[in-house]
Amino acid sequence: VDPPRTNFIRQIIDADLAAGKHDRIATRFPPEPNGYLHIGHAKSIALNFGLALDYHGTCNLRFDDTNPLKEDVEFVDSIQADVRWLGFDWGDRRFFASDYFEQLYQFAIELIEQNLAYVCDLSAEDTRTYRGTLTEPGRDSPYRERSVAENLDLFARMRSGEFGDGSRTLRARIDMRSPNINLRDPVLYRIKHGVIHHQTGSAWCLYPTYDYTHPLSDALEGITHSLCTLEFEDHRPLYDWCIDHVSVPSKPRQIEFSRLNLEYTVMSKRRLTELVSEQLVNGWDDPRMPTLAGLRRRGYTPAAIREFCERVGVTKSDNLVEMALLESAIRDDLDASAPRRMAVLRPLKVVLTNYPADNHELVTLSNHPKDASMGNRELPFSAELWIDHNDFAEQPPKDFKRLIPGGEVRLRGAYVIRCDEVIKDAAGAVLELRASVDFATLGKNPEGRKVKGVIHWVAAATAIPAEIRLYDRLFRVPTPGAGGTDYRADLNPNSLQVLTDCMVEPALADVTAGERFQFEREGYFVADPDTAPARPVFNLTVGLRDIWGK
Ligand code: ATP
Ligand code: MG
Ligand code: MG
Repeated sequence: VDPPRTNFIRQIIDADLAAGKHDRIATRFPPEPNGYLHIGHAKSIALNFGLALDYHGTCNLRFDDTNPLKEDVEFVDSIQADVRWLGFDWGDRRFFASDYFEQLYQFAIELIEQNLAYVCDLSAEDTRTYRGTLTEPGRDSPYRERSVAENLDLFARMRSGEFGDGSRTLRARIDMRSPNINLRDPVLYRIKHGVIHHQTGSAWCLYPTYDYTHPLSDALEGITHSLCTLEFEDHRPLYDWCIDHVSVPSKPRQIEFSRLNLEYTVMSKRRLTELVSEQLVNGWDDPRMPTLAGLRRRGYTPAAIREFCERVGVTKSDNLVEMALLESAIRDDLDASAPRRMAVLRPLKVVLTNYPADNHELVTLSNHPKDASMGNRELPFSAELWIDHNDFAEQPPKDFKRLIPGGEVRLRGAYVIRCDEVIKDAAGAVLELRASVDFATLGKNPEGRKVKGVIHWVAAATAIPAEIRLYDRLFRVPTPGAGGTDYRADLNPNSLQVLTDCMVEPALADVTAGERFQFEREGYFVADPDTAPARPVFNLTVGLRDIWGK
């Protein structure tokens, strides 16, 4: 295993440790429990937990749960399951920002006492108008000069539930003319009645904002390096302002890195939630989704996702990562680890006219051509076989190396056969092939001629019927919704193709969900949880080769 590649965050940590600023490092992964984790979160998880492991520090799992309307324990549970599945462990270091609500409230009182926060009666809309724009300075709220005593009184009454939703906020008193809009008296607290918070129930009707909660939670937990994505760069002065003006036990440092963007998908939780709720996909774990639950069901391994994150690296420049990079990580993993099997996706019957109908022979195939330790398996061979429709052509294109009328092909691990006759229905569709076996070709080249093509097959008598689901990219374009159009218009209508009449080899009869295979000449597949006894269901994880035209 290669040592982790260095990056600018590691360099900062190395310098901080060398300067004696810290004697240990502490990071955190702070998801909001309002959706399932996606591949972008994996980058943040791998970074935060990975640093803690490498530097013998700690990484907290902290739920950033300040927005109870959109949050739910379903998401708390799925996030924990996904972080564990990725291979990381927070031990007993699981926290909720809501654990700190009382402490945060006390910090707010400290700010009010220093005349650094005030209760403002502007509506949400007026607050926005007063804040100004990038080119226009903000204006002071008419409530900005309230006395400390009045602010303390009003803030306590906000907590006790005296005022309605949206009627008052607590705002930091910073600078309405700051070029950084985040510093123009940002809102610290909002009133929300009647919501049942998944952790604190109905204890509060006053909720702190993310920008206020995040730095103080970091400080309370003794986080040394608080890593977040680049869009929070402009929030850093507010982050520092919060920890500089209340009596926190430590001073974390916020460092921004570029978020992961992936081609042909969407990653904002709002859009992912819409795809699920509008049933444009089959749930959060639909194998086309970029969620970790979706990727898991698709057959991705945790190791491949961690390797992908490593290959993407950590920088400060935004970029759009090619799908091919994600796919090459799983292909490399499965090429080494997945046992080989034969599965016929679009079965076409072949009757071997010179093979005894009652003969049952076993042929031996290796489970992995490059790894003898994975052993061999024995496969029944008989007079009736299934091959793939795509491996036969009456009018073959140029360079077609599979079966044609009068032509020969090798059946993988078995004999060379010749196609003697094509049986068709009245409309001319091919129903069945009649072929003959060259008995001298088991494990040997035929005499006096070259047979180039090798195709896969299964014996009809012992084949297991299976369902196979083929997936393509969820969107037709690299950046769905680019240029202001509705991203839904870019959905790929052919992203799922379900083949219900597949025939697979008997070794696949009792697979359990999550088992991964290479189906020879087709790609890598995983058994889906919909698998039933004697009725396996497989998902295409990735094809054998990069088809992205790179
Ligand atoms: P969204 O904007 O879609 O709601 P979010 O960033 O608000 O996503 P959180 O649950 O708050 O979602 O994210 C938890 C952590 O994961 C944050 O620290 C965030 O920076 C990080 N993260 C989220 N998306 C990405 C991404 N695409 N690349 C890297 N890190 C990400
Ligand atoms: Mg969010
Ligand atoms: Mg967030």
